[in-house]
Amino acid sequence: MKNYKSLDAFWMPFTPNRAFKANPRIVSRTEGVFCYTDDGRQILDATAGLWCVNAGHGRKQIAEAIGKQALELDYTSPFNFGHDIGFEFAERLIQYTPDPLNKVFFANSGSEAVESALKIALAYQNARGKANKFKLIGREMAYHGVNFGGISVGGLTPNRKAFGPLLPVDHLPHTLDLENNAFSKGLTEHGLDRADALEELIKFHDASSIAAVIVEPISGAGGVIIPPKGYLQRLREICTKHDILLIFDEVITGWGRLGAPFAAVEFDVVPDMIVSAKGITNGIVPLGAVFVADHIHDTIMENSPEGGVELYHGYTYSASPVACAAGMAALDVYEEEGLLTRASGEIGKYWEEALHSLKDIEQVVDIRNYGLIGAVQFAQPEGSSAPIGGAFQVKCYENGVMIRAMGNIIAFSPPLTIEPEQIDQLVAAIRKTASELF
Ligand code: PMP
Repeated sequence: MKNYKSLDAFWMPFTPNRAFKANPRIVSRTEGVFCYTDDGRQILDATAGLWCVNAGHGRKQIAEAIGKQALELDYTSPFNFGHDIGFEFAERLIQYTPDPLNKVFFANSGSEAVESALKIALAYQNARGKANKFKLIGREMAYHGVNFGGISVGGLTPNRKAFGPLLPVDHLPHTLDLENNAFSKGLTEHGLDRADALEELIKFHDASSIAAVIVEPISGAGGVIIPPKGYLQRLREICTKHDILLIFDEVITGWGRLGAPFAAVEFDVVPDMIVSAKGITNGIVPLGAVFVADHIHDTIMENSPEGGVELYHGYTYSASPVACAAGMAALDVYEEEGLLTRASGEIGKYWEEALHSLKDIEQVVDIRNYGLIGAVQFAQPEGSSAPIGGAFQVKCYENGVMIRAMGNIIAFSPPLTIEPEQIDQLVAAIRKTASELF
C-alpha cells in the first residue's frame, strides 16, 4: 500500500537514481533469507541486506529487545552519563576480540567507526609525543565508508574523485591477481610479495611520518578480494617493525562471515584496532564500534590532564541504548544457533563447491570465496564500454535473487543461516541470468 505520490523526494544513496526510478525495485517485507516485493514475489536475499543481516531477517528476539529497551530507557546522553546496557554490551563484545583489544568506542555506522579509528590512531601518536606520525596508509580498491577519512584511505576511484582534496595518505597495491590466482578457493597462493610494497611505502614516506595502516582483511565492496596466504601476517610484522599501527576494517568480515567472530581470529593476526558495524546488531539498527588495544587507550588516558576529557570525539548516539539492546540480542541469536562458526563447517564447503560450479560459463574469468562470502567476475563485454554487473543485478532480481554488483563483478554474502537448497537457487539464478544476458 503506497502512501506516496512519487519516488522523487528520496535521493537514493549509491544508486543510479534515474534508472532506478524508471524501473523501481521495492521491497515490502523480509523474513529469514527472503525479501518480498510489493507485488508479492519472493526474492532470495543473497547479500544479507548490505552484508549485514547475518542471522537472517525477521528476528523476533532482536525486535522484542529493541521494543523493550525503548520503553524502559530510550535514550540518555553518553557524554558524562552512563547506562547499564552500554557497559554490559561493551564487556560482552570484548569476549570476542583478540587480546589486547579490550576497549570499545561506539559509533553509529561503519563509516563513523572508521573515522573514529583513524582519529584514535592520530590521537595516540600525538599523546606519545609523535605528532609527526600523521600519515595514513590504505589500499587500492578498499572501501572504508564515505566520510572524509574513509574516502582518503579508501581506494575506489569514483568514491573519491568528486570530493576535492583529501587527507595525506598513500595506498598499498590491491591483491587481485587474475593471472596467477583465478578460481582459487579460499586464500590465494600467489602475491604475498604485495605486502612488501608496504616496506617500499615506508621507505618513501619514512616510518617517522606514518601513523597507521588500514586494510579490510578481505575487501568487500572492491569485489571480494581474498588475500594471499600469509599476507596479513606480513603486514602485521612490517607494522610492528616500524612502529606503525595496524587497523583491520572488519565491517563485513566480522560476526561470522568467515567462520569466526573476526578475520583477526580466523587468520590469527592481531591488529591494534578492529572496526566493526553491520552484523554487530544483525543490521537491524545502526551501530558501529572500534575495538581498541589497551596500550592505545592507556597512552591516551595517561597523557591527558587529570579530570579532563581524554578524547574529544564521540556521537550523540554512541552506545545508543536501543542499539546496544539490539546488539545484545543479536549476540544471543548468534550464540544459540552457532552462527559465528557455521561458515567454517559443511555449509561453507557446499558454498565453495556450488559457486565454483559456475566456472563453465564462458564469460566467467574468476570465482572467489571464503566462509560465506563470494564473488564471480565476468570479462568486460565485447563491444561495450559498460560493465555487466549492473545489468546482471537487475536481471537476477527478476529471476528471484538479490545480489551485489561492482563493475564486472557480482558478489554474495548470504545470511549465515542459508541452507544448501537456497545456495542451489542462487547458483541456478546466476546461470539463468547469464544465459539471458550473454
Ligand atoms: N568499511 C567497510 C569494509 C564496509 O564494507 C562498509 C560498508 N559497506 C563501511 C566501512 C561503511 O559502513 P557504513 O555504510 O555503515 O557507513
